[in-house]
Amino acid sequence: MRVVVTGGAGFLGSHLCRAVLARGDDVVAIDNLVTGSKRNLDDLFGQPGFVFQHHDVSNHVHVPGPVDAVMHLASPASPADFARIPIQILKVGSLGTHNALGLAKDKGARFFLASTSEVYGDPLVHPQPETYWGNVNPIGPRSMYDEAKRFAEAMTMAYHRHHRLDVRIVRIFNTFGEYMRADDGRSVSNFLVQAIEGKPLSVYGDGSQTRSFCYVEDEIRGFLALLDSDYVGPVNIGNPDEYTILELAKTALEVTGSRSDIEFHPLPQDDPKQRRPDITLAREVLGWEPIVDLRTGLARTAAWFRK
Ligand code: NAD
Ligand code: UDP
Repeated sequence: MRVVVTGGAGFLGSHLCRAVLARGDDVVAIDNLVTGSKRNLDDLFGQPGFVFQHHDVSNHVHVPGPVDAVMHLASPASPADFARIPIQILKVGSLGTHNALGLAKDKGARFFLASTSEVYGDPLVHPQPETYWGNVNPIGPRSMYDEAKRFAEAMTMAYHRHHRLDVRIVRIFNTFGEYMRADDGRSVSNFLVQAIEGKPLSVYGDGSQTRSFCYVEDEIRGFLALLDSDYVGPVNIGNPDEYTILELAKTALEVTGSRSDIEFHPLPQDDPKQRRPDITLAREVLGWEPIVDLRTGLARTAAWFRK
């Protein structure tokens, strides 16, 4: 197969490029480097079957030659970016998704959308199954991301129903691991970097809000299982082990052997109170489930940050 990966220089995108190449397929990575870095792909440049295009997919996308799958991951994803580049996020979720769908249609390729647990907003149903429609504030400080992804899902389903495009939708829950940006502002990267540098860990609110963290290796295995399956989705891919953010901070201290303090800061507006994937569907239709536990994944990520 020849696979286009938009957002290929990002955290998840770079892992995906590596995994696709490792199974013998070719990769065209497209990225405008707004939150990604070519350094994430250092080991892939020069490998046969790997091509990189520096391009903003919110503008028309052109890829010469045949394409079998378009995996659309391009989008900033950290809450820290929501206030910094809100219009770019809305554009890549809407125009960028439209362009990536157009490329897939033109090439007769399968389309894969990286959606998110954020489509569930601050969920009133717990854990979240794919059948839950969500609780999103359409004008709040996370709305540019949540609504862009909801629009992207709708656009993907319109191409599927109207143009009979072969599509897959994954709803990704909080994922972490090597190649995360040290300064991307997310909880795992903040806590590990603060712990390693001996600085206080910044817990927002009282730390009782929950998340469920998936190690990147498991997540990417889930992506490829969905891509290869006959199931359109959406499918939740995430680790159902749920932790409070205070537990996450304490675990980060333990795995790094750090003696940093924990400091409490104000909770951002509309911060979801709880999040945990129901992965019954992924187990049934993909035979997928995560293997790596939080502690093991955090230890590997901490070792990478140290390097
Ligand atoms: P990331 O910021 O590391 O990667 C995103 C990549 O997309 C970056 O390399 C960035 O430069 C690129 N990009 C952004 N806008 C672009 C544009 N207009 N044109 C071309 N490239 C563009 O983030 P990530 O964590 O790797 O997220 C990848 C995808 O997975 C995103 O779609 C995100 O919404 C989704 N996701 C991630 C998580 C997570 O926990 N990491 C959770 C849910 C969903
Ligand atoms: N968070 C925190 N300290 C930080 C960064 C994040 O307490 O330095 C909290 C944040 O408010 C949220 C949780 O950790 O409740 C997860 O945040 P993250 O940015 O990792 O992901 P998201 O909110 O998008 O799920």
